[in-house]
Amino acid sequence: MDIIKNPRKRDGEQQLGVLYDGGKVRRRREWRGFKDTFFDYTRWLYLVSVLGKFIMNPYNVKGFFRYRWMANYLGVMHGMDKFTIGLRDEALRITHYSFNYVIADVTQSIVNCFRGDRRIRNDEEFSKHCVLTDENAMTAQMMGFKAEEARAILREVPTMFAANIFNQNSVIHYIDVAQQYGIPGDVCPMPESEAGISIDDDFCVLGSCAVQVNTTCDGSMMGNGLIAKRLEREYGIPTFQLTAPLRHREEDVQKYAAEDMKKAIAFIEEHTGAKWDWDTYFQRAKNVNDCTRKRMAQLDINATPYPQFFGAAFSLYNDTNYMGNCGRDPYFVKLDKKLLKLAEKGYREKRMYAREYRHRCIVWGVQPQYIIDMLYWMLQCWGVVPLTDMLSMVNTRMIAEEDTPENREQAYYDMAWLNENMIMRNRTHGGYEVLVDELWEFCEQMNADMVMMWEHMSCKALDGMHGQFEEQARERGIHLVWVCHDLCDPRVYSRQAIRDQFNSYMRTVMREEPLDPTIEVLPDENAW
Ligand code: SF4
Repeated sequence: MDIIKNPRKRDGEQQLGVLYDGGKVRRRREWRGFKDTFFDYTRWLYLVSVLGKFIMNPYNVKGFFRYRWMANYLGVMHGMDKFTIGLRDEALRITHYSFNYVIADVTQSIVNCFRGDRRIRNDEEFSKHCVLTDENAMTAQMMGFKAEEARAILREVPTMFAANIFNQNSVIHYIDVAQQYGIPGDVCPMPESEAGISIDDDFCVLGSCAVQVNTTCDGSMMGNGLIAKRLEREYGIPTFQLTAPLRHREEDVQKYAAEDMKKAIAFIEEHTGAKWDWDTYFQRAKNVNDCTRKRMAQLDINATPYPQFFGAAFSLYNDTNYMGNCGRDPYFVKLDKKLLKLAEKGYREKRMYAREYRHRCIVWGVQPQYIIDMLYWMLQCWGVVPLTDMLSMVNTRMIAEEDTPENREQAYYDMAWLNENMIMRNRTHGGYEVLVDELWEFCEQMNADMVMMWEHMSCKALDGMHGQFEEQARERGIHLVWVCHDLCDPRVYSRQAIRDQFNSYMRTVMREEPLDPTIEVLPDENAW
């Protein structure tokens, strides 16, 4: 592609490497010019207020001392800074507003966990209306329940997933525990660490029932089996297994999936005493559609020469909006609108995230990009724009949102469809069409000349297609950069080992020099 130069002078720091000195936190905050540094500081204060309010609750303090994973939240501020390197103007605002709300959402879920937890506050009345819901799911089966009657509790999110954003070493202990109990080391560290947390008895215990899903893969089914045994036999929490078909694009599996969704809903009604409410469901279906329209509009902007909302914040925001929320929190509708307005303004004013754009890149494969500032780094170091990522290429279909007798039946199919298209498994499972063929379609739509391929070494479904990707990228003249990692186990691939794979491709194959050589190698292994 032609190089696009930023027509504006970028205020503030030009060499980002000066911020890193090998410590846990950076040497100082990034200088972005007065206006943007001031804005960044107000968002820092906002996060301090969220955390301050959290810690003033004595039950949260009790939880802090009971659960090992809570210590990772000491790194929240750095976790946020990791995703704002080099950002200015609308990009800085979009990243803060989206990511700050993800943090606020996780904070609320910790509060809810501790409120019902038998070891912390033990609010039995609250707990009996809670449903432990697998984090690797769309939570669509909760869309028709009022929160006060049946509330989804995604306890893995604060325990494993979000904690890992703030501290890359957060699950090492749990992986070791799982392996001590005989689980092999080549299992994906995500389900393996969840199994380890359960073995270590470090999950909050609450709720009248639980729903597990077979998304995403055999690894997560292994973890779920162990977790379900503990839930049912030790804590008396009955657990439903919601099964999404493997070949989820085939017509003949949809009926089975819809029937299973009906059974999951009946199970929740039976154990919580809640009643499915169609008004609530269709209002939330409208919210899901609204979120799909806004995400597609953001992708349309990203297909132009001036993309606006991308990177880890885009991906994490989509994860939270589809899976954790799935239409249930009306604030996401407002926030989607606000973020799109900012992106449209940025596009009109031709705002750029960096000094120049050299390559337009689709990020594919299962990503560890939450524990490392990789996507923003690629941009600032090499001028490679990560237009979108695999996990953000989720549902594009509108679901039924008017309450009619036919749509009440259609709704089960729609919820099943959402569940089947959960953000990771909709690509890692479903065959080569969804994993390989559609990637090239996205490259064309987004006008990309490069694919950065996260190769998660424990994700067999994806690794099996290595040769197919190679062959087809070559035929299409797309630069394919393989970047190997082991998700949340940084002992296998450290942050610099991950970056080095990208560096050597850019130097040896592309024969390019970095935009900012001070960040080609970063001493950030000890950083939060
Ligand atoms: S990354 Fe791959 S192996 Fe790990 S949970 Fe997802 S689908 Fe399974």
